Amino acid sequence: MRIFASLCNRVFRLTLGALAVIALVGAARAETVRVPTIELDYAVSDDPRGALRKAAAWLAEGKAKGDKLKQLNALRLSAKANEQGEERPDLARDAEAGLTLARELGDREAEVEFLTQQAGLMVDGGDHDAAAKAFDATIALAEKYGLRANIARSQAAKAHLYFAQDRAAEALALLVEAHAYFETHHDKLGMIYTFSLMAQVFALDPDEKTALRKSIDYGQRALALIDPRRSRHDISVHYHNLGVDYARAKNWVKAREYFNKSLVLVKELGDRVSMAYLDYRLAELDREEGKLDGVIAALDRAIPVFVDTGNINMQLLTLLSRAKTQGALSRKRDAADALNKARALAEKLEAPWALVRTRETAVQLHSRWGEYEKAFREAEKLRTAEQDFAKANNARMVIEIERRFDSRQKEIENQLLRARQQESDARRLALILGLILALTVLTGAALFFARQAQRNRRFQTLAMKDELTGLPNRRSIMEFARTAVQKHPELSEPVIIALIDIDHFKSINDELGHAQGDAVLIAFANACQRELRANDKLGRFGGEEFLLVMPGSGAEQIPAVFERLRASVQAMQVAGLPPGRTLTFSMGATSKALTTDQTEELIQRADRALYRAKEAGRDRLEIG
Ligand code: GH3
Ligand code: MG
Ligand code: MG
Repeated sequence: MRIFASLCNRVFRLTLGALAVIALVGAARAETVRVPTIELDYAVSDDPRGALRKAAAWLAEGKAKGDKLKQLNALRLSAKANEQGEERPDLARDAEAGLTLARELGDREAEVEFLTQQAGLMVDGGDHDAAAKAFDATIALAEKYGLRANIARSQAAKAHLYFAQDRAAEALALLVEAHAYFETHHDKLGMIYTFSLMAQVFALDPDEKTALRKSIDYGQRALALIDPRRSRHDISVHYHNLGVDYARAKNWVKAREYFNKSLVLVKELGDRVSMAYLDYRLAELDREEGKLDGVIAALDRAIPVFVDTGNINMQLLTLLSRAKTQGALSRKRDAADALNKARALAEKLEAPWALVRTRETAVQLHSRWGEYEKAFREAEKLRTAEQDFAKANNARMVIEIERRFDSRQKEIENQLLRARQQESDARRLALILGLILALTVLTGAALFFARQAQRNRRFQTLAMKDELTGLPNRRSIMEFARTAVQKHPELSEPVIIALIDIDHFKSINDELGHAQGDAVLIAFANACQRELRANDKLGRFGGEEFLLVMPGSGAEQIPAVFERLRASVQAMQVAGLPPGRTLTFSMGATSKALTTDQTEELIQRADRALYRAKEAGRDRLEIG
């Protein structure tokens, strides 16, 4: 979830900045002038790569002429533009060099900007404590200099730290405060930034409907403020993020519409990283809607880009998408290959969400291939991974709720202060957001636990039942057989154990397709099931092979059972099967003769008998 957010964070952190065409022209003619921050921000939000090229040219020129102001302009621009890309090689170096130069030239605004940027880099590097301190020091410095706009900007950037820590309430409190400043000072880029980050904060729990609606709402509000002539890149990211929100809300039509709008801009800008994100998102949409044709090609375009930029999260998601698609296309080897690669990445990442997503896919694929033992083992591991995930989330929610009260307290104090400054609009917004947040957190917690319980139930059923026919699966029927055979060993209660295998089933798949084969398996299972008494049990033993266990029945009853099943299978109707096509099966059966007979021995005897039945021409019973 964080991945998409992080793409747009980048965008928005810099949305506060870019480039002066006028200043540029002016600079060419006369003395270098200080390019206003807002112009730098606009240049980046329009075309970050173009801005980067411009910055490199300025820097070279500034160095050649020994023009320090030009160099400072260049470093301010490149720092902002570099934040947009995934590679961002020179960001830390630029910030450091920029800071030195800003101090040398006494440019206080630039100094605070670079300090804010350095704190932002600490957030990206995962050093949250250091980042928090750096933000506080920067805000204090901006206060000392009386740079009110920079205070608001640093607050908004600090909100991003809270966002990265999942501390939604604190992030919102800061954003509300910064937003009030931007609104009263008609700072559009600032407002766009705060709305965008609010959208992302609400998207932290994308499974929660109210939060998702809010996220879409704030995303749309930001979009409505953006100037499409000056911020093409920014708009493309907003379109992308709204597409992601709509896809989560399962509104495929809207999602596709927004991804396609984003694609138009991204192509125009030649931005291959954003293109890879969109390839992945559109491929997922196609897969979701069963249009598998272009999916693999799109994923093949995206994966190398994520490898290039070292984005492991996206590599993992793309590989899982590939595995599911190849699975749906019945290309087992390719699917297994992608799944194994994804597994390796998930283990490297060690993030609970990565393990959960990977195991979910594994369960799905193994069940599809009839590898029920493997599916079962994966389902068990998935349960453990989900529990770990739930524990982490629960802990987060408890902390979150405690913090919410804390920050409500602070928020009330802030509101009193602001009341004196007659900013009553912002106060109302804060109250509403506080209430929405309280609702979001509480409904989120309730839904989370309900979902958890539902999933556990689903996997318990999956562990016992064969997905296709609804019969007990191999593990379950084996357990039943063991219980039946080992019950009252001293009384030697009779038990029939029989293996049933459909004749020439492969030819049905080959001639009529796998889906028709599945329909035959379901009809066959039902036809047999109808003929059994309540305490007999039929289970799916493997592909088109079934195990029948009849406690309390002896060897003498086997022929009659076989004839009953044979009549029922002959009479069964399967939609899509050509009229003349009949279906037969072979059966190998045995019964418990000695009190010491073991389940495995009985199954082996039945299997040998089944083999003889096949050898003798099929459509018959052999007793062993
Ligand atoms: P025989 O009479 O010797 O049993 O021939 P057969 O064709 O029935 O046996 P074989 O073991 O060669 O083929 C079994 C086929 O069953 C191969 C496999 O593709 C197919 N199969 C296994 N599980 C499923 C399933 O879940 N759905 C479908 N449609 N086919 C399956
Ligand atoms: Mg067969
Ligand atoms: Mg078979």
